[in-house]
Order: sequence, then C-alpha cells, then structure tokens
Amino acid sequence: MSTPEQRKRLRAFNAEHARVAERWRKRGFQYPPPEFPILPEDLRGLTCGAKTRKGTPCKRKDIYDSGRCHLHGGLSTGPKTPEGKAKVALNGRCPKRRLEAKPMGS
Ligand SMILES: [Zn+2]
Repeated sequence: MSTPEQRKRLRAFNAEHARVAERWRKRGFQYPPPEFPILPEDLRGLTCGAKTRKGTPCKRKDIYDSGRCHLHGGLSTGPKTPEGKAKVALNGRCPKRRLEAKPMGS
C-alpha cells in the first residue's frame, strides 16, 4: 500500500527519470549513457492496494503515478479537449480513411 506522500515522491522520481531519458534521447542515445536517478529504497515494491471484489487489497506492483494499477483506475479516462473528442468520434467508422485523406470541407 502507498501513502499520498509516497505517491507524490514516486511522481517526482518518474518525472526526473523521464527528463534524463529525454535528454539522452535528444543526444541520439550516444555512449556513455547518463546517470539515471536511483529509486529510493522505501519506494520499491509499492502495491496498488485497491479493494478487490474479494475484499482483499490488490497486490499488483505495476502502479502508475496515481498509485493504482491498470485494473484499478490507472488507465486514461479518455479525451478531454474538443479536438480529442472529435478524433475519437471517428473510431470504428469505415470511411475514416477517406475522411483523413481529404482536407476538411472539400
Ligand atoms: Zn490494483
């Protein structure tokens, strides 16, 4: 189980890790690799901890920044912006490819 304070530190760690990786990516992954931050001891093996249908806490360790696994609220909640909503509205439609190929309004 993770406390809000631990989740906050995990988020900060993930952000720092992503920054280092991004800088390395911009260098073209050249040797030597950068010094990646090391995950603090107390943040290792945090579990999701959500209540399962059985009533026991979830034991999954592959948690997102939210502190929950992908089965318990870790996934995306969908598009929020009007552009994103318009994009997903095209999903599952057969003439989608034709719509994309043509510029809008022609
Ligand atoms: Zn879970």
